[in-house]
Amino acid sequence: MSRARLGALTCALALVLALAGTAQAKTRAAEDRGHAPPRELRSMLREVSARNIEASIRKLASFGTRHTLSSQDDPNRGIGAARDWIFDQFQQSAAKSDGRMTVQKQSFVQPPGPRNPTPVIVTNLVATLRGTQPESANRVYVVSGHYDSRCTDVLNFTCDAPGADDDASGVAVSLELARVMATRKLDATIVFMAVAGEEQNLFGSTFFAQQAKAAGTDIEGMFTNDIVGSSTSDTGRRDPFTVRLFSEGVPTTETPAQTALRQSIGGENDGPSRQLARYVKEVGENSATGMHVRLIWRRDRFLRGGDQLPFLQQGYTAARFTEPAENFAHQHQDVRVENGVQFGDLPEFVDFNYTARVARVNGAALWSLAMAPTSPKNARIDATQLTNDTTLTWNANPEPDLAGYEIVWRESTAPLWEHTIPVGNVTRFTIKDLSKDNVQVGVRAVDRDGNRSPVSYPTP
Ligand SMILES: [Zn+2]
Repeated sequence: MSRARLGALTCALALVLALAGTAQAKTRAAEDRGHAPPRELRSMLREVSARNIEASIRKLASFGTRHTLSSQDDPNRGIGAARDWIFDQFQQSAAKSDGRMTVQKQSFVQPPGPRNPTPVIVTNLVATLRGTQPESANRVYVVSGHYDSRCTDVLNFTCDAPGADDDASGVAVSLELARVMATRKLDATIVFMAVAGEEQNLFGSTFFAQQAKAAGTDIEGMFTNDIVGSSTSDTGRRDPFTVRLFSEGVPTTETPAQTALRQSIGGENDGPSRQLARYVKEVGENSATGMHVRLIWRRDRFLRGGDQLPFLQQGYTAARFTEPAENFAHQHQDVRVENGVQFGDLPEFVDFNYTARVARVNGAALWSLAMAPTSPKNARIDATQLTNDTTLTWNANPEPDLAGYEIVWRESTAPLWEHTIPVGNVTRFTIKDLSKDNVQVGVRAVDRDGNRSPVSYPTP
């Protein structure tokens, strides 16, 4: 459990709310930049080391290539050497977890396709830190990077492909977070992952997401960190305190009935992945990360994809972290000098302190998610009669440390939640004189330490 984290502002405003006797009193702004996170989280984020991240990225680049079709048994060069090194790193973290973390090699044979002329064994490295609260341990969050790399020709598995930014940086985030979180007890379960086959067509993440779905695994949030190594654009502009977070609004798996409902009453900015992104902005922008989370409201960049997509296709909630502006001379390029310009994805172009800050944003999000209750399930908005009040209902949460719930709302045109009302430990609440026609409304759960869940968006 973390220490109490209801901020002074929230407390003061809750008092005002009680004195005013009206649910209409405005509480804290959703965007609370510069606030200090709970002490337990602060101390965890302090342990995230840019030096470790640098060592991981340099080591991964040293394998020459990590192409998915490269050697799997050469101890020094190729994806097999990288696979074994990552596995060993996760094992070292697990050894300090008091048995809570287990590490697996998840291997499968990928049949031939456009980017793999022959069948290939693909291996994901999966470190699972089991949650310690029985009511939350089956709730899972995933953080992933891809350890395969490529050069200009996606089929060339012998060329040098150091892949420092794409995506040793993302793997380094998974490794570093596994290291600092393994020693901590969290309510829910976190999976730290490094997948392969991303460049060949998202093979590893697709297999993992399919297996998880088939097993009925309750993944309530997935982050891929892909290209999180540089804060410098191709024009030389530096933006070292910003990370982009891509999230979809309308769920990939939306059904025709859900589409019809959305066309009737809106909600295109309120899918679960977008709620997750808002959550990351709330908990990830603070004095311990020093970062600005730039929310991008699209599933991924133009012409590009990433390992979040297979999770979305399985109906999971997922989003993608990436650096503020990419330099295309440093990605998917043969290592070479042309007209005095160095091409290639080399460690010299990585800003290790930047990647450490991205890791802290991920760490803040994962820790907060895993310590908080789950989002209220079966959230409904009463639409049975014409009224200018707004009534929400939801199922009771299962956690023993649950304190209660908060209803949040915002102008329908506003990007982030603007108002919060603590409503106590109830499963039905009416906000008088707030018309659901005019605003977007949601509900979230809060535990006794003040850890908040992501928002559930109610439907009629
Ligand atoms: Zn990538």
